[in-house]
Amino acid sequence: MEIYNYYAYELNSLFKSGEISASEITKAFLERIRTVDSKFNSFISIYEQPALDAAQNIDTKRARGEQLSGLAAVPVGIKDNIAVKGMKMTCGSKMLENFISPYNASVVEKLYSKDCVIVGKLNMDEFAMGSSSETSIFGVVRNPYDIDRVAGGSSGGCAAAVSAREVPVSFGSDTGGSIRLPASFCGTVGLKPTYSAVSRYGLTAFSSSLDQIGPLSRCVKDTALAYDAISGHDSRDSTSCSFKNTKCFDDLKCGVNGLTVGVPYELFSGKIDPSVEESFNSFLKKAEMLGAKTEEIELKTSRFALPAYYVISSAEASSNLSRFDGVRYGFRANHYTDTNDMYIKTRSEGFGEEVKRRILLGTFVLSSGYYDKYYKKAVNAARQIRNEINSILEKIDVIALPTAPQTAFKIGEKISAPVEMYNNDVFTVIANLTGLPAISFPCGRDNSGLPIGAQLITRAFNEQMLLDMAYTYETDIGGFSSPEL
Ligand code: GLN
Repeated sequence: MEIYNYYAYELNSLFKSGEISASEITKAFLERIRTVDSKFNSFISIYEQPALDAAQNIDTKRARGEQLSGLAAVPVGIKDNIAVKGMKMTCGSKMLENFISPYNASVVEKLYSKDCVIVGKLNMDEFAMGSSSETSIFGVVRNPYDIDRVAGGSSGGCAAAVSAREVPVSFGSDTGGSIRLPASFCGTVGLKPTYSAVSRYGLTAFSSSLDQIGPLSRCVKDTALAYDAISGHDSRDSTSCSFKNTKCFDDLKCGVNGLTVGVPYELFSGKIDPSVEESFNSFLKKAEMLGAKTEEIELKTSRFALPAYYVISSAEASSNLSRFDGVRYGFRANHYTDTNDMYIKTRSEGFGEEVKRRILLGTFVLSSGYYDKYYKKAVNAARQIRNEINSILEKIDVIALPTAPQTAFKIGEKISAPVEMYNNDVFTVIANLTGLPAISFPCGRDNSGLPIGAQLITRAFNEQMLLDMAYTYETDIGGFSSPEL
């Protein structure tokens, strides 16, 4: 088998047993990236020499008999809105096109301490705003299942790179579904951890009350391993929760016997792609066969979720993105008359259309006279959604939903219809508004062979249950497949 076809946990054990070196693994993946990435455009930047140097160091550690983690020698890719010292961090934007990060995000520090090999930075929608990875100034990310289709967004590069086996694991961010949606479009597993379980220090803020970093990979074991590597308290993120480091990988087990799965049928029945509904329903049947109980639940407040999400996230974005003013970071317009003109020209030229749309919307809903009418209402709606879902989760174990209403759409199909684009997030934003953990994993294919994702949401800090359930399903069906390339 080619090295790039192995899962992360397999690579790690081959490495530990001495069958393969970190340098060989890294070379194999760099070669893979060189061969296939021009088709998918998953990477914005690739750091070959630093990756090879890091691999060599890890080999030396092994030779010295040092203790090595479960992710040691595993090549990983990082979404380009997460800071890696000495590497570019563009956020897919002209605004930061040449920005080199002077420090490491906490998750990156953790990955280095686990001896992962960071091979490069992954493509994304500009500033993580989008559902298709079409708005990056570095060009659109293409779906490994069909290069005329989008990879999903905003972490499209993360999902495409994993699906195309350019890296076994990647780390993205999820504000309203940006890990889960591309995971479902590209047939990978994607986990959005509980809000505050993973430090946001070093993640470029989009909507601080919703953003979370999380892993994407081709199997549940790798997702568990990657989550364990980045979870845990960090004093540099004031919202970070103090809880013990997770050991989901060690504790991973099969079995869903007796678990209650709540399904809000009314939310999607007859309203989504028939192939998505069919695959999702057959996933539910399988879960029942494996011993889970499914029951219909009502999510009365969920119709507020999408509008509340777009109001809150845009409001926070308008404030977070005010730092990009041509003075402190990155791009500055060439021609201007005075300081004010410099701000205006810099922001007009530096940001793309979608980012400007969010800033305008966000500024509007926060402006006096409209604050109560829109922003406050949205915050209230989010509170109601949180209350309803938390009380439902006192009675049942998980909520199951399709990840997206449809499979990967054609490139260009929705880019000029923002509201249609936003509709893709209708099932994912719920987990962000409530802060709850959610996982997406493949549950079938449509008639064109495009992957379909199932999503599970559960109580805060209960990632283990999500991983166990997905693992049970994955084991039962004999593993998730990857595209032929
Ligand atoms: N598609 C959503 C948006 O554009 C979610 C983005 C995200 O999760 N980063 O806001």
